[in-house]
Amino acid sequence: MIEQSRYHLSENDIPRQWYNIQADLPVPLPPVFSPVTLKPVTLDDLSPIFPKSLIGQEISLERYIDIPPEVLEILGMWRPTPLVRAHRLERALGTPAKIFFKNESVSPVGSHKPNTAVAQAFYNKIEGTQRLATETGAGQWGAALAMACKAFEMACKIYMVRVSYDSKPYRRSLMRMFGADVVASPSMDTASGRAILAENPNYPGALGIAISEAVDDVLTTGNSKYSLGSVLNHVLLHQTVIGQEAIKQLDMAGEEADVVIGCVGGGSNFGGIALPFMRMNLKEGGKIRCIGVEPSACPTMTKGSYAFDYGDTAKMAPVLKMKTLGHDFMPPSIHAGGLRYHGMSPILSALYEQNLIEACAYGQKQVFEAATLFAQTEGIVPAPESAHAIRAAIDEANDATAKGDHRVIVFCLSGHGFLDLGAYDKYMDGELEDYDYPEELITEALERLPQVAE
Ligand SMILES: *Cc1c(COP(=O)(O)O)cnc(C)c1O
Repeated sequence: MIEQSRYHLSENDIPRQWYNIQADLPVPLPPVFSPVTLKPVTLDDLSPIFPKSLIGQEISLERYIDIPPEVLEILGMWRPTPLVRAHRLERALGTPAKIFFKNESVSPVGSHKPNTAVAQAFYNKIEGTQRLATETGAGQWGAALAMACKAFEMACKIYMVRVSYDSKPYRRSLMRMFGADVVASPSMDTASGRAILAENPNYPGALGIAISEAVDDVLTTGNSKYSLGSVLNHVLLHQTVIGQEAIKQLDMAGEEADVVIGCVGGGSNFGGIALPFMRMNLKEGGKIRCIGVEPSACPTMTKGSYAFDYGDTAKMAPVLKMKTLGHDFMPPSIHAGGLRYHGMSPILSALYEQNLIEACAYGQKQVFEAATLFAQTEGIVPAPESAHAIRAAIDEANDATAKGDHRVIVFCLSGHGFLDLGAYDKYMDGELEDYDYPEELITEALERLPQVAE
């Protein structure tokens, strides 16, 4: 008898609604402020950037929001994603713990990001947007949005952080294959890009700057809107299909989760898997531990301040109350590019402040070591971002071994690492560096937080 390891749902089991945790939060989220006036943001401030339906979802207090059939149809290309029991990893660890992972790497672009890209493209399309602009770091979000724009026949412009543009040519190829126009950021295409290049023509770029360029772009180009792949409430909302499916699949396996783990950049894959479990904690007396895992080089949750800050370096994106390292904090160039963002989802930041979720941080060597063990046992090369979750899952399992308990650990495998093999080569050649926690840089950046008129 082969031990069952994969728990498959049928296409009919894709969730029909997204779960909106704002309906169940013990304390409502703080208001959002305009980056220009530093007063509470109005619909008029946001509507040049986002379509009204997404602004509505951003502030909605409705517990469940229907997923439009047009979105479900596209999600059905790869959803429901498998939940897998990592028997071989468990045996390698010699642990009594049960480890499951939700495999979001099976999407057309290899990560969880299309779950929201498709929804955002759809709502833009029905409100008449003809073109979306966005930023991308490692290229995962750009590839997802390019694919979604193609599905709804919209144009797509992507500002890709210069270092990644040069070092990750294959993600660029993927975006171009899906029909997007990709430029290196800073670029000559926007005023914010030109200003930076005038000062330093060799500037390697940063996510916050690419965001500024994309926002600048949509404010100066007709029929265009901006799209963000993480952080915002509506993005986490769209990702809750992950956790809802995982709950059903665990049920098929006859198990209940004790620990739910995800890596955190802006918080969307972790929010996506954890928030439906959090509902069980908030409404049904559940005691599931939810853990966000970040790089120690960009320790937003574990070392950041809970404060109002700009979403981007050029102070064009809305001001949100979140865990932040400062909008102009420049994290070291670790290989998990998707985790190098200065802020954190306001929802997750609030839950963390209220001690309702946990966080931990790891250096990249430990993370790549975990990734290698996972690849060798489970046969999947994980994205370096996802490998942070694997590291934490392994440490939880080792803790279960020490204590002799059978805890059930579920983590989100947010993407595969087939386009990150260069980084794995560096690890295997012993060339990977661990960066110290950049305390001085963070302290300095935190001195420049905006003062909102609360
Ligand atoms: C973008 C990305 C992340 C980080 O973003 P979150 O919004 O925190 O999920 C993690 N893993 C992969 C594979 C990504 O592409």
